[in-house]
Amino acid sequence: MNEFTEEELPGGPGEGTRAVRAGLPEPVKHEPTLPGPVFAAHFHLPGEPTGPYTYGRDENPTWTHLEGAIGELEAPGRDGVETLVFASGMAAISAVLFSQLRAGEAVVLPDDGYQVLPLVRAQLEAYGVEVRTAPTAGDAQLEVLDGAKLLWIESPSNPGLDVCDIRRLVEAAHARGALVAVDNTLATPLGQRPLELGADFSVASGTKQLTGHGDVLLGYVTGKTGEPMAAVRRWRKIVGAIPGPMEAWLAHRSIATLQMRVDRQNATAMAVAQALRGRPEVTGLRYPGLPDDPSHKVASQQMRRYGCVISFTLSTRARAERFLEELRFVEEATSFGGVRSTAERRGRWGGDAVPEGFVRLSVGAEDPEDLVADVLRALEESAR
Ligand SMILES: *Cc1c(COP(=O)(O)O)cnc(C)c1O
Repeated sequence: MNEFTEEELPGGPGEGTRAVRAGLPEPVKHEPTLPGPVFAAHFHLPGEPTGPYTYGRDENPTWTHLEGAIGELEAPGRDGVETLVFASGMAAISAVLFSQLRAGEAVVLPDDGYQVLPLVRAQLEAYGVEVRTAPTAGDAQLEVLDGAKLLWIESPSNPGLDVCDIRRLVEAAHARGALVAVDNTLATPLGQRPLELGADFSVASGTKQLTGHGDVLLGYVTGKTGEPMAAVRRWRKIVGAIPGPMEAWLAHRSIATLQMRVDRQNATAMAVAQALRGRPEVTGLRYPGLPDDPSHKVASQQMRRYGCVISFTLSTRARAERFLEELRFVEEATSFGGVRSTAERRGRWGGDAVPEGFVRLSVGAEDPEDLVADVLRALEESAR
């Protein structure tokens, strides 16, 4: 945690208050505080077909509440910003990339980002888009920006947890006429607010810590109202990658506890990272909150919380597999950000450039002492 954690908008409510109230409609007597999901493929629409609610692929009142909630967290107090929710993080990412880029244009992606990006790259190239990549660390994407239409940033990157200086990259991109999108999945809007750092789009998977219970797939795009966001909205309508009302409602319900969850999970992640730090079996330990982590300096300037994901490497694949088997309170699963801790040997998927013994650990809301003890015990057992 750093000095930003206590930050509040001048005269405005604090983050916890904002999270529990985010996106709630004006109270109506005898109605629930958060209205239930509206299940509708179409709405009554006599006469002239005017909005807001006409057909269920275009708009839904349950999305409207959720979009308001996410917008209030991604860009508090800001006018002229809108949010669009999608069926998944990948639906949101694809909506930005495929709505903004045309054949003959260039995009800069991270080469160490989310594992589906190489598939996205192949699809963009099939459509005639030039794709350039560079690592997140050291702001290396700066080197390949010239002439690009869009810069895609993932900071912290998944799973390597490198961080780039978002403000610096945004300035360089805007000076060259490029738009900037930031994948804000790992940080959540309580950890980082890309629009305040100058980005044009904050894009994320709500499947992870935003909703936090491992039971919903969701994505969103927040951006300034204008032609780029209008194109994203058109893309959602064309492709139809829309969330179901139940998922949207569950997500909104979960956001009420976002601050409690991230504060608890991130503080415990720090405790686990500190416990792992002195261990001789552990190499390549990464957590942006650790003062000596290579990401820490830049992270502390642009992030308000450092996330719940830790990564490290054990000597061999077998050692990492034994470690995962020995854990009692940590489920072996992909994904991250949930209230139940999860971990996996990332190399089992192929695709990420990581060592065989590389482990990504997502810290949940268990008691910190239980988790630290479990992780240390599993480390010891894995040596047997
Ligand atoms: C999981 C993830 C995605 C994809 O989200 P889905 O909801 O699974 O489609 C995108 N970016 C990052 C950084 C992720 O971790």
